Amino acid sequence: MCGIIACRTSAPAIDYLLAALHRLEYRGYDSAGVAVRTVAGDIVRLRTVGRVDALVRLVAGWAGAELDGVGIGHTRWATHGLVTEGNAHPLCDCMGRISLVHNGIIENADRLREALALSGHRFSSTVDSEVLCHLIEDQLMIASDLNDAVQAALTALEGSWALAVLEERTGRIVVAANRSPLIVAHTGAGDF
Ligand code: GLU
Repeated sequence: MCGIIACRTSAPAIDYLLAALHRLEYRGYDSAGVAVRTVAGDIVRLRTVGRVDALVRLVAGWAGAELDGVGIGHTRWATHGLVTEGNAHPLCDCMGRISLVHNGIIENADRLREALALSGHRFSSTVDSEVLCHLIEDQLMIASDLNDAVQAALTALEGSWALAVLEERTGRIVVAANRSPLIVAHTGAGDF
């Protein structure tokens, strides 16, 4: 069973994300990843088919812009698609404007993928979860508010999900759940 984590913290988010992913390891997983905003406003995605310790090493080797206090993370237990770095979460839309971590199964993913591909979307993984990235991408063209876009995109889905979506432009995170558990908490260090 996989796990997701998202946070907006006053200290660098990556420390909380990695600590949370370590805590989720007992559930079992085949790959792990994070997407973190930089102080320059870009999103950095780091993913591995190794253990969380391998992700820690990837983060330690990051030599780009300083990482900020906003990010999402995932330990994956593959249900759709091989265990590869490209299939590890966070997944993103065509332009990399949103990153997403998902726990669960999108039951109508094949049908949605076909329709999205026909309308011009480019898929970079074979994971069911990626259809949601592109559904949100479409919705963001209609309504620029991330919360509205995620809510509208979710109406097309059948299945189960606990998910977190991070938007590059605003640094906003939206979370949602349906038949998968999700806890939201506010602490002195920030929101989780
Ligand atoms: N269905 C998604 C995948 O195959 C999420 C699996 C999970 O809950 O870890 O990546």
